[in-house]
Amino acid sequence: MSKENLKDRLDKGPVICAEGFLFEIERRGYMASGEFVPMVSLDHPEVLENLHKEFQHAGSDIVQAFTYNGHREKMRVIGKEELLEPLNRAALKIAKKIATNPIGEKENLMAGNISNSNIWNQDDKNSQLEVEKMFREMVGWAVDEGADILIGETFYYAKEAYMALKIMKESRLPSVITIAPYGQNIMRDGVSILDTCKELEQQGGDVVGMNCHRGPNTMLPYLREIRKALKCHVAGLPINYRTTEGHPTFFNLPDNNGCSCHTPHETTFPTALDPMQCSRYEIRQFSKEAYDLGINYLGVCCGANPMLIREVAEAVGLTVPASKYREKMDNHYMFGKNKRIPKHIKDYRNKA
Ligand SMILES: [Zn+2]
Repeated sequence: MSKENLKDRLDKGPVICAEGFLFEIERRGYMASGEFVPMVSLDHPEVLENLHKEFQHAGSDIVQAFTYNGHREKMRVIGKEELLEPLNRAALKIAKKIATNPIGEKENLMAGNISNSNIWNQDDKNSQLEVEKMFREMVGWAVDEGADILIGETFYYAKEAYMALKIMKESRLPSVITIAPYGQNIMRDGVSILDTCKELEQQGGDVVGMNCHRGPNTMLPYLREIRKALKCHVAGLPINYRTTEGHPTFFNLPDNNGCSCHTPHETTFPTALDPMQCSRYEIRQFSKEAYDLGINYLGVCCGANPMLIREVAEAVGLTVPASKYREKMDNHYMFGKNKRIPKHIKDYRNKA
């Protein structure tokens, strides 16, 4: 059983990382939308375990512990702070179990995860100290439970991302750090997307890039600049929604697809984004283009599902266990080319 480290894997070629657990677990009925707390690792561990297995089957090389939003502040919001450490450890143990039981020869990497705290305030030192403590305790649990790498993600304040990286690096584990700027195309503390990434590289990020908030169309132009400016490995994990220049993130994405029943709140985010999903071919195209630019760390964030992760893997030339079930339209009863399909069925296709 080989256990190659992250850098060696990236030096050789693509590394796939499935994210987007929040949306997918919610879609499966095990999380309250909006509140978005990953209680699933305690309430329904078998569901989380199975989702990790499905992503692994679809080609994810990294099993990322589902501790997104599983931080002290969020647990305070829902009045369950006492479950913070059990939740983190349960999520890490589940990820470790799946990562060490690969389908093929190669063991997966288990990743500990920290993310946007939502209390970071650039003008309030106390909030920053609070965030530092939150990150440090979570990184501690991840190291304790045998994480191979750490992922810090979805940061929209540059300085919060720097803080996350500093604390991840104290563990000496390889660190992936990805940012998620909002619709003004700048970090909330005024640092440009490119400058934030350059600084993260300077501060020792092993992999630097972008995840979440943006679909392929509004993420790729920045990834192109980042790839040009940085020497380290770069990450690109868009959401699976058709964001546009006018609406660069999924937070204010209008439904332009014939909606006849509006959401009870102001935005299509997060419960009525379905009509704006990308097709698998759009995700495939994004992955291929990003990989051709030299971006080797690829995946999908919110809106991801195992089928899309397989598309990412296959787009960059990999064959994964789920490739066995890639589309075979030739055998479709009406649109296929199989010679057993009766002519009168095929001929009706344009009227179907
Ligand atoms: Zn996301």
